[in-house]
Amino acid sequence: MPKVVIIGSGLGGLSCGYILLRNGYDVTILEQGAQIGGCLQCFKRRGAKFETGMHYIGSAAKGQTIDMMMRYLELDRGVELSALDASAYNTVNLAGSEFRFPNGREAFVEQFSEYFPHERDALVRYMDIVDGIASASSLGSLMSDGRDIAVDSEYFTRTIDNVLDEIFSDDLLKSALAGDIPLYAGELGKTPFSQHAFIMNFYNKSAYRIVGGSDSIVRSLAQSIRERGGEILAGKRVKKIECDDSRATGVITHDECRYDADYVISTIHPNRLLEMLDTKLIRPAFRTRITSIPQTTSGFVVYVKFKPHTMPYMNTNYFSYRDTTPWGCESYTQQNWPKGFLYMHMCHEANAEWAESGVAISYMNIEDVEAWRGTSIGRRGEDYEAFKQRHAERLIAEVDKVCPGFGASVESYYTSTPLTYLDYTGTERGSLYGVAKDIGLGAAGRVPYRTRIPNLLLAGQNVNSHGFLGVLVGSIVTCSELVDPQNIYKQIKQANI
Ligand SMILES: Cc1cc2nc3c(=O)[nH]c(=O)nc-3n(C[C@H](O)[C@H](O)[C@H](O)COP(=O)(O)OP(=O)(O)OC[C@H]3O[C@@H](n4cnc5c(N)ncnc54)[C@H](O)[C@@H]3O)c2cc1C
Repeated sequence: MPKVVIIGSGLGGLSCGYILLRNGYDVTILEQGAQIGGCLQCFKRRGAKFETGMHYIGSAAKGQTIDMMMRYLELDRGVELSALDASAYNTVNLAGSEFRFPNGREAFVEQFSEYFPHERDALVRYMDIVDGIASASSLGSLMSDGRDIAVDSEYFTRTIDNVLDEIFSDDLLKSALAGDIPLYAGELGKTPFSQHAFIMNFYNKSAYRIVGGSDSIVRSLAQSIRERGGEILAGKRVKKIECDDSRATGVITHDECRYDADYVISTIHPNRLLEMLDTKLIRPAFRTRITSIPQTTSGFVVYVKFKPHTMPYMNTNYFSYRDTTPWGCESYTQQNWPKGFLYMHMCHEANAEWAESGVAISYMNIEDVEAWRGTSIGRRGEDYEAFKQRHAERLIAEVDKVCPGFGASVESYYTSTPLTYLDYTGTERGSLYGVAKDIGLGAAGRVPYRTRIPNLLLAGQNVNSHGFLGVLVGSIVTCSELVDPQNIYKQIKQANI
């Protein structure tokens, strides 16, 4: 059996491992962290559980794309979903005015036509464009051969703001529709409209939290991988990919273990991968191009444990902005931070009446914590703890302004900064979602899934796109280099009969 070594055990690594095991490969997954799962990891403090990355998924109602993928990945046996409020899976607050995002195309048009009656026709056109982009591409349908990424569509080369300006005249409506940009760290004048369309379509179809936390996805995938003979090893930081004159031959971990490989799949940030490649097979121009791609912004997160039975479970995801625009929250001063935040509750049990824990996330740039770069987790010093406390209190106060009672319900809180992401997942600059999409860069801004080393492939959020759908579609595209994609699609269909 050909041997595949996969670097990283996030959704990208685990899903590639599963697909390849089902198709006759011998798979070993190496993870640097003590826990596997990457952004799917959860942690517990004083009995309360917190999700670190994946908080909600879309398109998972029966027969929809993610439902089909979950059956294929056997996630249906270990992962329970809880539907978000179908009349408001997202709520966007712009300077005090609230806008609810309902599931379903018609309901969405109706709801937003109530807010903006003069824009009804434009809303129908907007939904036509959003649906068209999602369904025309294999990214949305998973039904074609996995390579049909519709990069030539004009909406991949025009920005979100540019397209919204063309469709709508009402500025508040444009802002409300772009209110979910923290889900992809969208930036004005840079992020392609296609990114907005995929995410809008993904969640508009249906939206769910994961009961008990996103680590149930890790447990389920890991069990399936091990049952099929795959190996997942934690605490194994890959430091080098060894190559001969033409190919990769294996990888070396920090503890000097060598793993022979017929194929290597890297699911980590491409800049980290390049640091492991000391070979002439990778040209300097490629290194320069990849390391020049900008990163999505990083974040500051406050994880809150609520006092028992004080915080009613909030079945919507709450995006709030001090101003009437969601744009530009990544450009702030120490005085006006945070300009916006995303606040969510963790679904600790199905049909929960009270929330046990929640998170509030706001953008933060790595420069704010530069002074502590190079220090290690838990030993960054008192001034770092004071910095975190100051920012946590400001963020809690900001949430309390729009969700009265929030501050009073906090029993205890924990925080993470850009340094946490830097250390836990190894993303460049602690970026939330890895590389950023910027229409100004065109093809030069894309991370390829193939390299000049024929048996070294890339997967994970930096190739294709981040998030549950983006990463899974990327895994199919990458694995299609080793397996006939028609077989993968056949297997997905068979799993759904
Ligand atoms: C705050 C936040 C909220 C999010 N919310 C959502 C959401 O609600 N819905 C959604 O769909 N998506 C969400 N996402 C995005 C989603 O979680 C990610 O895109 C996805 O999980 C990334 O998977 P991955 O496998 O590409 O990368 P990762 O999960 O980062 O996995 C990469 C793994 O590689 C390991 N690694 C790195 N270097 C090495 C090395 N040298 N050797 C061995 N291992 C190494 C890392 O430790 C890590 O475990 C969110 C992300 C964040 C950060």
